[in-house]
Amino acid sequence: MKALSIHLTDVCNSKCTFCIVDSPHMKQDTIMRRRVSRFLRENAGQGYEAVNLHGGEATIRRDFLEILDEIRDLGYPTVFLQTNARKLARMEYARTVVEKGVSLFVVSMHGATAQTQDRISLAPGSFDQAVKGIRNVKELGATVRTNSVVCKDNFTELPEIIDLCLDLGADMVNISALHTSGTALRNFWQVTPRYDEIRPYVLQACERAVRRGARLLMEGFPYCTVPGYERFLVDWEDNRFKVLYRSFVMEDYENHMDDFERVKDQRCGGCAFDRVCGGVYKEYAERIGWDEFHPIAGTATGQLAPVP
Ligand code: SF4
Repeated sequence: MKALSIHLTDVCNSKCTFCIVDSPHMKQDTIMRRRVSRFLRENAGQGYEAVNLHGGEATIRRDFLEILDEIRDLGYPTVFLQTNARKLARMEYARTVVEKGVSLFVVSMHGATAQTQDRISLAPGSFDQAVKGIRNVKELGATVRTNSVVCKDNFTELPEIIDLCLDLGADMVNISALHTSGTALRNFWQVTPRYDEIRPYVLQACERAVRRGARLLMEGFPYCTVPGYERFLVDWEDNRFKVLYRSFVMEDYENHMDDFERVKDQRCGGCAFDRVCGGVYKEYAERIGWDEFHPIAGTATGQLAPVP
């Protein structure tokens, strides 16, 4: 898929303890509508299959619905929306958003219970709203992909989170490694679990998704941390995203991540996944080190085993 991806706002109606764009600390939005409009106009008619909108929380922009109109008027085939789904709890609003062209909702689900999710979002009621939001857009015929970021506060209930998402009718479940940037970096030791400690729960969550016949996607995990489930990691070769992030355009999201956000170690050179693995988030490697990451012998398509 070839898509545009737009960071539509810095601010949010939740205050997640691991927000990668640091929304809880942003007092004012820096995103200018005219910059967004120019980006949309410049790229219209160039074969982009979708416009992916994210933030912060895109739906809290006053002109959010106008931007959806603009995207449709410029001829983009469809819109994907990354959202906490809180505003979608109102059926009337959810219907408007669907009618204006959003076909895929990527909804944050970080807890299996209100207690966990609201503790992470620091927004009482956010879990119930997200659940209602998912139900509403499903009822309206839209596609839902949930996204669950693995953090210290939720990793032990990850399998139950996946069960909940599938029970709610999610068409796809996404499990993301914590990107240690923004508020997650400010709160690093409070929110960041070690890969070693989350592994059993991540693998169990994957197993549950697979057993239930769900479409599973994983993002941000070094390949050596999810043995047996490597094939579910996002293949960025097949997903080319041109991103507008504040005033900065990334021609290719994956190249940006490789160049600026993730790092590799000498050991990676001897790993079967070196070519496809993005490595480890750099702040994680700086603070926690490399003792959990073990190169895989063999070829990425053949027999695999940890390098002795
Ligand atoms: S050893 Fe390095 S290249 Fe191999 S999977 Fe782990 S982080 Fe990726």
